Amino acid sequence: MRATFPHMGNLHISLKAMLQHLGVEVVTPPSCSKKTLNLGVKYGPEFACLPMKLNLGNFLEAYEMGADTVIMAGGCGPCRFGYYAQIEHAILKDIGCNMELIVLEPPSRYIFELTGKIKQITGNKPLWQVIQAICYGYQKARALDEVEIAAFKSRPREMAAGLTDAACRKALKLIDRAISWREIVEARKIAGKTMAGIPVDKDRAVLKVGIVGEIYTLLEPFTNLNLETRLGYLGVEVDRSIYLSEWVNDHLFMGLIKGLRSRKEASIAAHPYLRHFVGGHGQETIGNAINYARAGYDGIIQVFPFTCMPEIVAETILPVVSADFGIPVMTLIVDEHTGEAGVMTRLEAFVDLLARKKEMKEAL
Ligand code: SF4
Repeated sequence: MRATFPHMGNLHISLKAMLQHLGVEVVTPPSCSKKTLNLGVKYGPEFACLPMKLNLGNFLEAYEMGADTVIMAGGCGPCRFGYYAQIEHAILKDIGCNMELIVLEPPSRYIFELTGKIKQITGNKPLWQVIQAICYGYQKARALDEVEIAAFKSRPREMAAGLTDAACRKALKLIDRAISWREIVEARKIAGKTMAGIPVDKDRAVLKVGIVGEIYTLLEPFTNLNLETRLGYLGVEVDRSIYLSEWVNDHLFMGLIKGLRSRKEASIAAHPYLRHFVGGHGQETIGNAINYARAGYDGIIQVFPFTCMPEIVAETILPVVSADFGIPVMTLIVDEHTGEAGVMTRLEAFVDLLARKKEMKEAL
């Protein structure tokens, strides 16, 4: 088996580590690019959402590199995610890419089906080895998230433009290269020191913006046009409502690791505005926006792919949250036609608005 998987931010680093730990040969697709998108747009249905098109592009690029098996998550619930794997498989078959598809359904609903699929992937490796590999991948995911969180804080305060990006690249490479438990612990420590060593102006006044929305567009910088980095350069400290390790803790570990934000907390916060699951992360978008407002953030940006149903539901509720909590909200909808200049203009205007609002508040 030469396995591949979709790209989603830094996910490939921990997924690759986990699979290789189990002796699976991995073909990591190239990072998402215009070529990936063009492939997905060419072969995917026009009205499918952007993540589906990019994933299809990832699989086609990995196929060219020799991958023969696709491993991807499945889903259930009101949005289209639940049948994307099957559609992508049918498309691949139609265009002559004979790849096997292994869909990992959510463990909370299909635990025996999931263990069966894991056996298939790992060639029936003992359970303790699978658990060890998952923990190993998780350690990497946590280390990667720590680097990103540190970058969000230092970028708007860095003494020279680009210092954070350079430190980030170095730290991510270290984590990626670690091939044993001991090496990951060491890499995590060095990565932390690297990020903490970025020269920053601690007294610089910055704005704080919480980013909420659909998971793929939040985690994959190609889809959100490097939103977090752009905001950092505009003097904004950002926080993302979903990190990979939090998602793993919520969905795979059932919240076993304490001290991380959870889906449940966000759902409780959303309750006065949206009381039920609407698919994807729609309900969490509302809850997280409220949590950011309560934490004193200056603004909120919601980002999601064009036609994403759960986020459209959330989008209709966010103006009420904005009015009730007095916090400006901007919505950014992305698809293959989204242009960099348009996004940049909107971001600059939003940041100006937040800065003026803050100044007026401080003058009172
Ligand atoms: S959550 Fe949105 S973007 Fe993701 S599969 Fe569902 S509809 Fe598409």
